[in-house]
Amino acid sequence: MRYINEISLGARLKSSASMVLDFILPARCPNCSTKITAHGFLCPNCWGDLQPLAAPFCGRCALPFEFAAEDGDECGACLLSPPDFDWARAAVSYEDLGRTLVLRLKHGAASSVVPAMAQMMASALTGKGADVIMPVPLHRSRLMARRFNQSQLIAHALTGRLSVPVDSFSLIKKKPTESQGGLNRRARFQNVAASFAVKEGRAGHVAGKDILLVDDVLTTGATVSACARVLKKAGAKSVGVITFARVGRPVSG
Ligand SMILES: [Zn+2]
Ligand SMILES: [Zn+2]
Repeated sequence: MRYINEISLGARLKSSASMVLDFILPARCPNCSTKITAHGFLCPNCWGDLQPLAAPFCGRCALPFEFAAEDGDECGACLLSPPDFDWARAAVSYEDLGRTLVLRLKHGAASSVVPAMAQMMASALTGKGADVIMPVPLHRSRLMARRFNQSQLIAHALTGRLSVPVDSFSLIKKKPTESQGGLNRRARFQNVAASFAVKEGRAGHVAGKDILLVDDVLTTGATVSACARVLKKAGAKSVGVITFARVGRPVSG
């Protein structure tokens, strides 16, 4: 398993590439177009509009706690019904600009913000480790309609920063699902329960691996838990989760 340091070799190579790029094309904030000093970051103003997800939070699903907690303490929902992933981290809270960036990316309007998102996600992963990164897949029909998978874009931006390879083939979404919006916690878990699978013939890419699942936003963790279940069934050693944003309040029901 490769442990993740904030400044990996990939990130160092990337920063020399961005120095060349800075010379040719001045860097601008991908959100507001203000001139900045280096590519791949947000300007200080936009940065200030984000709310970094800071401890204390649930050791399993990263739900922020309103009270002091010991490292590794889990929230009520995780204790009552443990999700199938081992741990989760997120860069920012799903509020204000954090929410705006996720929605803009989902609607195809903000792919230029992906490197900055990946940078923040890499920092949130300090001290964690993985053998392989897997984006949460979309069903074929959704991918045809949208033409891109935002989780895959983020996963590819993360790979160089973490020096961990991406595998976008082994985990598939075999069944389309209705949007999770408006569903309570229980319904969200039921909605995605049997949607994912390990692609036939790819179990060897999963077995014995520490897998890092990548998604844009984590709400109840139902989607990543359903992914983790099939990965564990195929022999994954551990499944961690990184998302750009985390909804800060528990979803009831
Ligand atoms: Zn800005
Ligand atoms: Zn939890």
